[in-house]
Amino acid sequence: MAAEGREALYYEKLDDGRVRCALCPHECVIKPGAVGICRQRANQDGTLVSRIYGRVTSVAMDPIEKKPLYHFHPGEQILSLGTNGCNFACLHCQNWSISQEDSHTRGLSPEEAVRTADESGSFGIAYTYNEPLIWYEFVLDTSKLAHQRGLKNVLVTNGFIQRAPLDRLLPFIDALNIDLKSIRDEFYKKICKARLAPVLETAKVAKNAAHLEVTNLVIPTHNDSDEDLADLANWIRDNLGADTPAHLSAYFPAHRLNAPPTPAATLERARDIFSARLNYVYVGNMALPKGSDTRCARCGATLITRRGYTTEVVGLDGRKCKACGAELNIVVNGP
Ligand code: SF4
Ligand code: SF4
Repeated sequence: MAAEGREALYYEKLDDGRVRCALCPHECVIKPGAVGICRQRANQDGTLVSRIYGRVTSVAMDPIEKKPLYHFHPGEQILSLGTNGCNFACLHCQNWSISQEDSHTRGLSPEEAVRTADESGSFGIAYTYNEPLIWYEFVLDTSKLAHQRGLKNVLVTNGFIQRAPLDRLLPFIDALNIDLKSIRDEFYKKICKARLAPVLETAKVAKNAAHLEVTNLVIPTHNDSDEDLADLANWIRDNLGADTPAHLSAYFPAHRLNAPPTPAATLERARDIFSARLNYVYVGNMALPKGSDTRCARCGATLITRRGYTTEVVGLDGRKCKACGAELNIVVNGP
């Protein structure tokens, strides 16, 4: 059985047995017997502990495209792990049964996770489904061990973490997909109960440390105005680079948000606005013509085709375009 109640790495002890968690920008002050906003970091008699160290709700082999990552080991499968909890409370969360409530968990130690990845023929481990940054101690231990065995580590994250723990984790992370939910702080406050600035900071830091892709879920009336989309795409281009793969995802009503599903015309408009600023723009959760293939930004040659989760690399020679020789932001079988 994996260990439970592992002491947290980032916190300080206050008076009256209270603690202040220093993992994410919420900086929860937690009384003895209580938990922080993410519900998974608990004050046990003046010590902050992670309740989810070595506990998983989901273990599955997924196509890497499902994360989504389109420029990192295209067509390969990756062992994907998730647990309970999140430091956001998005009204539209598709995974609310694990992010906002506690589902059944089972034990899985870092050693067992790495062995499972090896035995499954996975090229790495993806920490996903709920918010992996609040699973910090387990993700750090597991990703170190995974690197020792030659496996890659992938984070699918909301990016809401303090700088010190981020800097400590990133050397063991090979690729991230960061959800950029909106370029407006009001959206983060109203819809996610969080803040925008730390997420943007994480994206900028991560860009210099690992392969980075970003996702924006396009929600009618909440973040889909021309101005919102253009400002977000401009920010990505100016801060992360025009070659950063950007995924525009269709929203469907879930959890506590009743906005109508994203119409195809809205997703097409979003794609047009993003494509005017960024070189690799994809649509997800909805099949649009030419929504998924990767084409060389320099010569237009088709590099990777995708039909559902069937992916074929057709136009790459290592990281280069076979047709024009351009060096591309695509990692095939290792950086
Ligand atoms: S990780 Fe959890 S307990 Fe710590 S500050 Fe963030 S929400 Fe609060
Ligand atoms: S950040 Fe992701 S997992 Fe967390 S509440 Fe929002 S949508 Fe759900």
